Amino acid sequence: MMAAAEEKGFLQYTGPRDDITYPVQVVYCGECTMPIEYCEYYPNYEKCKEWLERNLPNEFEKLTAGEADSKDDSDDKKKRQTRGGKGMLKAKKKAEPKGIKMWTQSRGKKKKITTLVGLADYDIDLKVASKFFANKFSCGASGNDNGEIVIQGDVKDDLFDILPEKWPQIDEECIDDLGDKK
Ligand SMILES: [Zn+2]
Repeated sequence: MMAAAEEKGFLQYTGPRDDITYPVQVVYCGECTMPIEYCEYYPNYEKCKEWLERNLPNEFEKLTAGEADSKDDSDDKKKRQTRGGKGMLKAKKKAEPKGIKMWTQSRGKKKKITTLVGLADYDIDLKVASKFFANKFSCGASGNDNGEIVIQGDVKDDLFDILPEKWPQIDEECIDDLGDKK
């Protein structure tokens, strides 16, 4: 009995709502007979659009404008969302790569390490790059929080060839050899 009473209450008419203008105006499509916002689910949507264009040019424009938007910008929008807004995207585009810098340092009596910085500006994933170097030189290579990659050994000469070969967006001219740091 309780459930029935509740159900009845749920269905009760609660009077006109302030946020709705009565009578509610629903525009129905002459092609599929559905309210026009459902036309896009109709298999023959193209026909609906033709009907709208002829009979409700204003609604047609609204519909197709939104459509063109979502088609052309969908990739863009995704990027904006993941990067946190339009402003960020603009800033990102302006930041030209500053080039790659590399230098060596001594570690112990005979060992050297090569540090490489600037790859991130070329949209290169440092983890992927570290793995690539580790394979290429059969040695340890790791990225750190400063955007640097540290490779065991002195591999600067090799990097001049390897970097542009692996990532064509890197110009050999942009690679800066800072020599040996003490
Ligand atoms: Zn329709």
